[in-house]
Amino acid sequence: MRAAPRKDALVQVLRFYEALGFDRLPLSLPESGAGSAEDKAEALERLRHSLGDCQRCKLAQGRTNIVFGEGNPAAEIMFIGEGPGRDEDAQGRPFVGEAGKLLTSLINKMGFQRDEVYIGNIVKCRPRNNRNPEEDEISSCLPFIKCQAQIIRPKAIMALGRISAHTLLGLNTPISRLRGRFAEFEGIPVMPTFHPAYLLRNKSEKHKVWDDALKVLKKLGRQPA
Ligand code: URA
Repeated sequence: MRAAPRKDALVQVLRFYEALGFDRLPLSLPESGAGSAEDKAEALERLRHSLGDCQRCKLAQGRTNIVFGEGNPAAEIMFIGEGPGRDEDAQGRPFVGEAGKLLTSLINKMGFQRDEVYIGNIVKCRPRNNRNPEEDEISSCLPFIKCQAQIIRPKAIMALGRISAHTLLGLNTPISRLRGRFAEFEGIPVMPTFHPAYLLRNKSEKHKVWDDALKVLKKLGRQPA
């Protein structure tokens, strides 16, 4: 008899945790800020290691580097984009191209250095020719950014662009309607906002992203720089 789809999904989740080295299930989620930075750094390293030479989806064929994500393992805020572009693929680091420069200036304007926050993507390998990641690619990679968010447990996530917001929130609402209002991803407040690459093409929309960032700073109990 064929196993029920729910059982297959459960087995997949258990295998995933096993591959990460867990011998018990993390049944309760830690509070934001709980856990030492060293423990979080170690858990992230273990997760990065578990990716190995990832061949879980077809993006593996076209990539130069896996772009795991980078930053402070105990960050108060996480920025999640869509997937690496050409510059990120070449360097193995997220948001280092033109859109990355804009993201870095937003981070600085918010009062942070880049290495004080954590930056990741929904998919870790570059979709060729800047196409959007496909559904099977997103679902192969999603457990990793989920795990990163659960290890870091930031006080807030800024979801950069449609693909990130839709994937994290499980919604299809246009980003122009989602942005500016907090939603939640596995107990973590998420502020959907426009992608920096969109802002490069639509400079007059920058003030909207700044409004969204101010709401995030308020949630963190911080003032802009
Ligand atoms: N766009 C993204 O969504 N992520 C990156 O890392 C770079 C550009």
